[in-house]
Amino acid sequence: MAPAVAAVTAARSSLINHGKKIIGVGKNYALHIKEMGGQAPKAPVLFLKPTTSYVFEGTPIRLHPKIGVVHHEVELALVIDKKARKVRPENAMQFVGGYALAIDLTARDIQEEAKKQGLPWTVAKGQDYFCPISNMLSKAQIPDPDDVGIWLRVNDEPRQRSNTKHMVHRTAFLVSYISHLFTLEPGDVILTGTPEGVGPIKAGDTVTAGIEGLMQMRFAVEVDRDV
Ligand code: MG
Repeated sequence: MAPAVAAVTAARSSLINHGKKIIGVGKNYALHIKEMGGQAPKAPVLFLKPTTSYVFEGTPIRLHPKIGVVHHEVELALVIDKKARKVRPENAMQFVGGYALAIDLTARDIQEEAKKQGLPWTVAKGQDYFCPISNMLSKAQIPDPDDVGIWLRVNDEPRQRSNTKHMVHRTAFLVSYISHLFTLEPGDVILTGTPEGVGPIKAGDTVTAGIEGLMQMRFAVEVDRDV
């Protein structure tokens, strides 16, 4: 990579590193809602993941040896680059500085139990290593975030392949909606929800995910020995 390009890439990724929050959107693809046996919500379902859950390429995903079932959820991520509070949908994309591909790892059995008991999803969604994410992509690389092919493979097995055009709530609406609840700040990331095909990962697997025609990223999955 030429030095100028490397500097731009580093600057973009450091924006993600300086973010204060990750806002996850749940139930945003009809076929994923169906595979989970849920109902389509009227308003977006939101949850938070701490930024300590980020893993960048080159670092493996490390899972606690007794964690149970962990599912992959490939998602388009929006990276905020300007403070946004109560913005209108028609202006919302001005506050998005770029994109990334992320995997919203989810401890599914913990989440199912939390749903049954009406408890928060924090432990199911927010653990260390639970947000593998790519380097930041520019807005020029993704001219229309509502029409992006995303996919995920575990080892050689295709698991998820869809397009953000199937999202229930589009990107501009999500940014606007969220900005009315939480002030968005530079580096904050919105995970826009996952399409169908979620499934388990385990130590020894290799997870590869990509954006059609643009990029791919790869993560090894290991047992976390530091327990
Ligand atoms: Mg998700």
